Amino acid sequence: MEQLLLEILAILRSGKSLDSRELGKLIDSHNALVKSAQRAYSKKKILPYYLRVKEQDPARWASWGVDDELEARLMRTLRMKPRRTASGVATITVITKPWKCSSDCLYCPNDLRMPKSYLHAEPACQRAERNFFDPYLQVASRLRALEQMGHLCDKVELIVLGGTWSDYPISYQTWFVFELFRALNDAPHTDESVRERRGFYRGRGISCDEAELAGFVELEQKRIAAGEERFNAAFERLYGNSKAWAEVASAQEATLAELFEQHRINETAAHRVVGLVIETRPDAITPGRLRFFRQLGCTKVQIGVQSLRPEVLRANERRIDVQQIARAFTYLRVFGFKIHAHFMVNLYGSTPDEDVEDYREFMSCPSFMPDEVKLYPCALIEDTRLVARYEAGQWRPYGEDELVDVLVHDVLSTPPFCRVSRMIRDFSAGDIVACNKKTNLRQMVEAKLSQMDAQIDEIRYREISLAATDLASLELQQVEYETSATREVFLQWVTPEGGIAGFLRLSLPDASFVRAHKDELPVSPGEAMIREVHVYGRVANFHESAEGVQHRGLGKRLVERAADIARARGYAKLNVISSVGTRGYYEKLGFKRAGLYQARDL
Ligand code: SF4
Repeated sequence: MEQLLLEILAILRSGKSLDSRELGKLIDSHNALVKSAQRAYSKKKILPYYLRVKEQDPARWASWGVDDELEARLMRTLRMKPRRTASGVATITVITKPWKCSSDCLYCPNDLRMPKSYLHAEPACQRAERNFFDPYLQVASRLRALEQMGHLCDKVELIVLGGTWSDYPISYQTWFVFELFRALNDAPHTDESVRERRGFYRGRGISCDEAELAGFVELEQKRIAAGEERFNAAFERLYGNSKAWAEVASAQEATLAELFEQHRINETAAHRVVGLVIETRPDAITPGRLRFFRQLGCTKVQIGVQSLRPEVLRANERRIDVQQIARAFTYLRVFGFKIHAHFMVNLYGSTPDEDVEDYREFMSCPSFMPDEVKLYPCALIEDTRLVARYEAGQWRPYGEDELVDVLVHDVLSTPPFCRVSRMIRDFSAGDIVACNKKTNLRQMVEAKLSQMDAQIDEIRYREISLAATDLASLELQQVEYETSATREVFLQWVTPEGGIAGFLRLSLPDASFVRAHKDELPVSPGEAMIREVHVYGRVANFHESAEGVQHRGLGKRLVERAADIARARGYAKLNVISSVGTRGYYEKLGFKRAGLYQARDL
């Protein structure tokens, strides 16, 4: 392996580059001398080898004479799955420990090995189980995997999944986020520290062995399948009576002061948090909770909406109403959070036409209009109460053409300020009893849209990634819309072909709303809010320029334009809901710490 690596380095050092075909040929020439297939070289093995030598045999690594620039080129040459960081940020998804939910929706999976609504075969869930659901271990293993694939992880978005975040004890929520930050601040992790932490869970009797985990939940899972038990009661019997989980829980506590110290360290760490996302239910959104989310460092909230039709919400036993959803949107926006909504099609009690109409309402009614949406077709999952409706012929999954047709309509009614981030859940085909099992559903929808030659405004479809962009050709466009308590200004850098290179969300809150709710809001009349700034391109190291469009002043120009607009509309102060790792960036733009935000006088 060393000889192969040295040849690659020599080529890069000479100023040449290696495309995948040339790299493949070089690897093949080395494989010609290898007798066993198991020992064969491959692209994905080279970087882990390089990183291992760098960490464990520094003298040998030094003899290769690799400086920062050469290392960056080596990473780019050997990077696997480049789309992972194509949007400019390395995403790390983590899952909270098995937990109940204050609701029990008809279609929601009941896997007792997971927090409500998740299934253990989903990729992120498998990783969580292998790591005892420990946030530190999940981050450590993901960071290592991404780096071994050649991704720069200096800017990290943390996505915390697990049913309903607000249903966990506050002390657990604080500890979980504290450990996420600590894991990023501690990197690189030694094998010994990881082993020690794993030993903590093993020592208390928590397993990460597939057969043992299945055995742990087997009886209660059967009772749920037979309709004799609901998830929450089964959960209590299993975990509530488990000495091992109780002992682990007693160590899962941290104070806000401890968390703030990790925040402070992260501001200048090698792996900075540029976004922290948590998911919860609309009825769990209160001003008090939103203040706490900000203290944690949260910048975006995922909320399950699923439908706006009262009869569908009722039929699916969602235990929320449309007013609660609207209220959640209003508070989230005035607090400055980015709103990532989950919306479902093919729910029990709906039809394709009603789905299309419902989504159109969701995208155009001032009470809603999310920033991002996960558009899930309802899937029939074993052990859910929807199975009985299906067997009784009361619910049927849409046919493929029907489903694609609904999604095509939905994409067409998504406005330019909204991003359709997903169209399927990560369920494995084996878990789906009925419904779409195709993982390329999005491509099918886009193929149909391209046949129609229709104009697609939603963000994800227009993102330019990895492509070198001619900055001089970019135009700054402004899209405005009214919501229940704000006027929103969406600024976007657009290419002549309609691609989007970056954007900013500016919220101009309605002074009368802010005045009427002054006791519960962290902002005052006359304060505008930047809710998001995003510039696309491959992740750039904080200290060097990127090959994409990041760090070339596009973000700064968006912020200055937002300040001009807010000033012209009579606002005296501009807040930004910055993430811990972007505080330094905003300080350079003249923003100062101001409670839950950073702020600049206008
Ligand atoms: S609120 Fe979400 S997690 Fe809870 S039962 Fe409903 S779908 Fe499942």
